[in-house]
Amino acid sequence: MNKIEHIGIAVKSIEKSNTLFASLFGEAHYKIEEVASEGVKTSFFKTGPNKIELLEATNPDSPIAKFIEKKGEGIHHIAFAVDDIESEIKRLKDEGFTVLNEIPKKGADNKLVTFLHPKTTNGVLIELCQDIKVRGREI
Ligand code: ZN
Repeated sequence: MNKIEHIGIAVKSIEKSNTLFASLFGEAHYKIEEVASEGVKTSFFKTGPNKIELLEATNPDSPIAKFIEKKGEGIHHIAFAVDDIESEIKRLKDEGFTVLNEIPKKGADNKLVTFLHPKTTNGVLIELCQDIKVRGREI
């Protein structure tokens, strides 16, 4: 597993939170992207070498809507960059982690992604992501 790729924060309103985080970081978000399959709208901020992803639910069944209902707004997941997501999925399954998407999905920001269930990672939702370009593969 490589560096932390980004930290995901669940918010009720991307619009309001974009203003808040722009004040905090002194710089506006650089991208907004909707991932319809996940029922989320995301926006991305750069802070030096790091990235922060804000996530807003676009429908009541979205995992983000459920998260906010249970826990309120706040840190939702930590994403780690990997070079080969399929071999990491296999390795982590063999280690006993519960992988939520055994076949990685297309996530925001041109990535293939999967998640590890927080029940097997001390309550932290972990995202693995791999740049789609790295593989020269388009989905
Ligand atoms: Zn993420």
